[in-house]
Amino acid sequence: MRIALIAHDDMKDDLIEFATEHADHLGNADLIATGTTGQRLNDETDLEVERMESGPYGGDMMIGAEVARENCDAVFFLRDPLESQPHEPDVTALLRICDVHDIPLATNLTSAHAILDSLAD
Ligand code: PGA
Repeated sequence: MRIALIAHDDMKDDLIEFATEHADHLGNADLIATGTTGQRLNDETDLEVERMESGPYGGDMMIGAEVARENCDAVFFLRDPLESQPHEPDVTALLRICDVHDIPLATNLTSAHAILDSLAD
C-alpha cells in the first residue's frame, strides 16, 4: 500500500493531527508527500515519509505521476477551500488523474477518516 499525503498551509496542522491519530495504520504503508507537508510529517510524527518537491514547485504533479503509474493507492489531500493557490492548475490535474485511475481521494478530514477506515478493512 502506498499513500500520498498533501496539505495546503492552513490545513497542515489538521493533517499532522490526522496522521498522528492514525500512525499505526499509516505506518504500515509506504508514504509519499509534497515537500513541506512531508518535512512536517517527518519532523512531528513517528512516520517516515518520502518527500517530493513542494507543491508550488511541482510536488502535486509528481504525486499525480505516481497515480498515473498506478504506484499510489490513495491520496489524502487537505486542500484549503478558502484560499486560491498559485499552482491551482496542478491541483486540478492531480484531482483529475485520481478520477481517471479511480484512486480513492480525500480532500477533507471526514472523507480522509472514511477512506482510511475502508482501506483498513
Ligand atoms: P507543500 O505542498 O507540502 O510543499 O506545502 C502542498 C501544496 O501546496 O500542494
